[in-house]
Amino acid sequence: MQIGAAFAKRTLPAPTGAGNTPQKGAQAKSLAWLAQAFSAQLLARRPSVDAPWPVSVATASYNADVNFSPAGVLNADLHCHSSVSDGTLCPEDLAARAQANGVQLWALTDHDEVSGQHRARAAALGLGLPYLTGTEISVTFAGETVHIVGLGFDPDDAALVDGLARTRGGREARAQEMAEGLARVGIRGAYEGALKYVGNPELISRTHFARFLVEVGACRDTQEVFRKYLTEGKPGYVPHRWASLRDAVGWIVNAGGVAVVAHPGRYKFTANEEYALFSEFREFGGRGVEVVTGSHTQQDYVKYAALAQEFDLLASRGSDFHSPDESHTDLGALPYLSGTLRPVWEALAERIHLPS
Ligand code: AMP
Ligand code: MN
Ligand code: MN
Ligand code: MN
Repeated sequence: MQIGAAFAKRTLPAPTGAGNTPQKGAQAKSLAWLAQAFSAQLLARRPSVDAPWPVSVATASYNADVNFSPAGVLNADLHCHSSVSDGTLCPEDLAARAQANGVQLWALTDHDEVSGQHRARAAALGLGLPYLTGTEISVTFAGETVHIVGLGFDPDDAALVDGLARTRGGREARAQEMAEGLARVGIRGAYEGALKYVGNPELISRTHFARFLVEVGACRDTQEVFRKYLTEGKPGYVPHRWASLRDAVGWIVNAGGVAVVAHPGRYKFTANEEYALFSEFREFGGRGVEVVTGSHTQQDYVKYAALAQEFDLLASRGSDFHSPDESHTDLGALPYLSGTLRPVWEALAERIHLPS
């Protein structure tokens, strides 16, 4: 069975909410037409299951174990960052890298920002690469920061754009406080230093500070900077209140998209807190979870595949690529989703921008 047939066979619920109208410029395409186009365009470039990109031994053995279905075997990369947030490549260079790596469906998901969406979509479509809109919203839940990825929404939706602007709003003052904390342990000029790495003045993040601290020789790499300076209890860490889970999911859903819990394996929640996160996320209209991401171990793949089934969630896949120099997982260089899961892109078939 081909991907197109898999699409055609299932009943695909349309995204719900006030923003559930076709995006500007996007043609209203019948499901049958889309299934056909998707099948023809994507399968033409579908890699074999022996992935052509470099995979670790761990990844190869995971791939050998999973039960593939054609729906699962799609090199979708639905999580990465450009210089519009804390990545180092511009949207156009990321699109080119995704395409060169064999990605077949791509989304740029900058933190708390959608201003790179039109550029990313234009670049992707120009390269013949199907595109879904994306973002990654910072949320505070049970005192921890949780990231919620949004996919397939209208990037011009006013409530979403406004909510993201308010979420970004506190970053400037937080950055000043981070620099004060670092100055107290002898690292001066960190605010100005971090700014040199910032591509979007509204989005100064810990990653930009990490790059500056590596530059001045305080640490060998950004991982070490986070460990020693930028995590809870360390001199450059400033607690911050981000968006609420209800608001973040609401903005995405009302803009016609699907909300996905990003890299759940990274949060330091107890089992009860994690259960509460997913229960509330579902209650607010969230529908997906990242199962295969650059931040997950093999155990996490198994754990969150089971959780996706328990909570009846769609499964997503994304590298969380930030930079050729810093990221250990390149665009598209991930195991496929298990065929036992329902991939998030099936529910977003009508939101995928296809090259003409
Ligand atoms: P912020 O939104 O300013 O709190 O920055 C969060 C970003 O920092 C994440 O999106 C990652 O890109 C990066 N980050 C967080 N923890 C680490 C870590 N341990 N090592 C490297 N980068 C990290
Ligand atoms: Mn980041
Ligand atoms: Mn994240
Ligand atoms: Mn991310």
